[in-house]
Amino acid sequence: MTDTILVLNAGSSSLKFAVYARNMGATAAVLRGKIAGIGNNPVFSARDSAGEPVVRDFPPMGSSTQIDILIPMLIDWVQTNQIGITITAAGHRVVHGRRHHTGPALVTDALMVELMALVPLAPLHQPHNLAAIRCIAASMPDLPQVACFDTSFHRTQNRLAQLFALPRAMADEGVLRYGFHGLSYDYIAGTLPAHLGDKADGRVIACHLGNGASICGMHDRKSVATSMGFTALDGLMMGTRCGALDPGVVLYLLDQGMTPQDITKLLYEESGLLGVSGISNDMALLEASTAPNAQEAIELFCYRAASQLAALVPALGGLDAIIFTAGIGEKSARVRKGICDHLNWLGVDLNAVANDSHATHINAPHSTIDVLIVPTDEELVIAQATLTLTEPRRG
Ligand code: ADP
Repeated sequence: MTDTILVLNAGSSSLKFAVYARNMGATAAVLRGKIAGIGNNPVFSARDSAGEPVVRDFPPMGSSTQIDILIPMLIDWVQTNQIGITITAAGHRVVHGRRHHTGPALVTDALMVELMALVPLAPLHQPHNLAAIRCIAASMPDLPQVACFDTSFHRTQNRLAQLFALPRAMADEGVLRYGFHGLSYDYIAGTLPAHLGDKADGRVIACHLGNGASICGMHDRKSVATSMGFTALDGLMMGTRCGALDPGVVLYLLDQGMTPQDITKLLYEESGLLGVSGISNDMALLEASTAPNAQEAIELFCYRAASQLAALVPALGGLDAIIFTAGIGEKSARVRKGICDHLNWLGVDLNAVANDSHATHINAPHSTIDVLIVPTDEELVIAQATLTLTEPRRG
């Protein structure tokens, strides 16, 4: 029997999973997959360690199956179909861990109560992250579980980077810039020596551009400043989220009679690429569209990402390298070019051929700033943390 760690990244409509063997130091996933379309029309897919599709059938899921049914099915499928695998711990992505969780934590009842209170700060993610933990606790009550927080990586930031210009009592109450996507930045930070050599400990801005999007300025591979703030709404324009917004707009909308719930839906689910294009939140679809509104949405995405990136430079005192990661960052040559074109004045110059072919190093030789594509791996960071905090099966 191989002792394994199950890693779950539970979102509103998808459940990403990966399985890591303890005896291999949880360094590579033996199985990786996703259930997409949860609540609508769930679709299961999985790949083995070589990246080949796993064809062993997943049981029928019905049309609108929810996570509390799917997770026990997934555990059963992993343990019965993947010969010789026993799950001995579970690790979870948890978006919000507030100020004091500077690293991963073993799940306890008290921790769950604490994390539930943070649901209003991350309504798109936190409820689903916690639901996954509860499902596993219900079906495997003795299984140790570890929560890995997207906020933890940013706790190295100095006070100025975390403060809003609000009355100071609010900061004392915890109204601070927390930052997110920390598991992804943690992974990227770990890869920098291999990619950048001596510059790895220099001034690097990582751009995590997926459905959610943010950037993080790092020095010595530690977070110095980031674009997301109190919630995962701030900063860059995203798939359905507005990013940085004049708070006066929110006051105006309230004055016009919109409820806080209406505004939450507008800003989290109906804005960003979807809102501006009126077509889709999906960058690949917008790129394929000839509609002027789709093109304007992409241009705004690039312009705002470049503006926010430039705004992080003072926190770093300069810039040595830019890293692109996550779905858009890894796969959209057009968006990388669109962002870098706004940054020529800073010394950023792309090699068009390398960019178009999604090479690792994509800057032109004369560029004063290195530009790289580094695929992220949040699941690996969670697996490693879970390995460290949990004991293998005895006997
Ligand atoms: P999530 O935040 O859900 O993990 P991903 O990191 O998978 O998201 O990124 C999803 C985004 O990446 C979507 O907007 C998708 O259209 C975009 N994307 C994926 N592949 C491509 C591609 N080949 N060209 C442009 N955009 C792409």
